Amino acid sequence: MEDDQFRIETRSIHAGQEPDEETGALMTPIHANSTYEQDGPGDHRGYEYSRTGNPTRTDLEANLASLEMADYGRCFSSGMGAINTVLNLLETGDHVVTGNDVYGGTHRLFTQVYDQYGIEVTFVDMTDLEAIEAAFQDSTELLWLETPTNPLMSIVDIESATAIADAHDAISVIDNTFATPYLQQPLELGADVVSHSLTKYLGGHSDVVGGALLTNDPDLDERFGFYQNAVGATPGPFDCFLVLRGTKTLPVRMDRHCENARTIADWLAEHPAVDAVYYPGLADHPGHEIAARQMDDFGGMLSFELDGTLEQASTVVEETEVFTLAESLGGVESLIEQPAPMTHAAIPREERLEAGLTDSLIRVSVGIEHVDDQLADLEQAIETALE
Ligand SMILES: *Cc1c(COP(=O)(O)O)cnc(C)c1O
Repeated sequence: MEDDQFRIETRSIHAGQEPDEETGALMTPIHANSTYEQDGPGDHRGYEYSRTGNPTRTDLEANLASLEMADYGRCFSSGMGAINTVLNLLETGDHVVTGNDVYGGTHRLFTQVYDQYGIEVTFVDMTDLEAIEAAFQDSTELLWLETPTNPLMSIVDIESATAIADAHDAISVIDNTFATPYLQQPLELGADVVSHSLTKYLGGHSDVVGGALLTNDPDLDERFGFYQNAVGATPGPFDCFLVLRGTKTLPVRMDRHCENARTIADWLAEHPAVDAVYYPGLADHPGHEIAARQMDDFGGMLSFELDGTLEQASTVVEETEVFTLAESLGGVESLIEQPAPMTHAAIPREERLEAGLTDSLIRVSVGIEHVDDQLADLEQAIETALE
């Protein structure tokens, strides 16, 4: 199907997914298979070995490329596998500019894996365009950014930030996991590459781990394909099937995620036991205007600060029933977590407080349950915690 002919609600269901030629099966078959018959030595029908290529994976790659309006897509066994593949492009002596609140796994990859290969990284406040510009060096080859960020939902101006990378001949990559292509299309805003953890909204059901890279640049895609095969962090066909099943409902799920998150953010903003709410849809969020410009809606993630202690915030996350205490995000079910002792525990307390991640900060991934049940659940948990 031609990409630009249909809207994303239609592409999410049909792109890359023609009925099976042989049987007419509507849904992409799970090609549980490692090797392929050849008609003569080297004479194969498009597939030789499943690390190199698998038809279920091909369909998912086509589907995801279509969602991001990209010419090319590559899938990986996790979001980290996808991110690592971008970093495979770097050489000793290269420099990277990224955000000081970048995803923890990405931070770890830079500081505990790539540092030993002589890759230098500068972590800056990505909401400050002058700080991004100032961080660039002659050796800067890569700008890596996320927006909205975790857990304060900071918003980075994609168009301006990628223009800086462009002016320095550096590759710009956006980790679009939080927004999804339904809400934000970074390639159209100037990014060279979009990276995804399929584990989150694209899979959408907390039942699969996966990653993807999308680009319009044929040379980059070819190099990603080389590393995909050479390094081997490829997804199995069943995982690809699960993500394909997830992407079909991405638009309807995201609509409900956004609607519920907005209702909860408004409610929390009025709550006497809440000191601050971080949701880009709120008019007083520092990134609200940029978010309104570059996103179609404000997403399903938000954080709030309880007017209480670390222990009281812990009680809130323990007492909720509709919101399950767990890391991760983007599934149909609501999740709740406390960054200080959980996702951001590795950051020293002083540094954490300086970054605005207080002891009583609570992050929620707003699911698609009935919003009244979500609100009642948060209310009873907050009441119990402050008793
Ligand atoms: C989860 C996540 C990742 C890592 O993806 P995995 O699938 O867990 O490997 C990367 N970036 C962001 C923003 C994430 O939320």
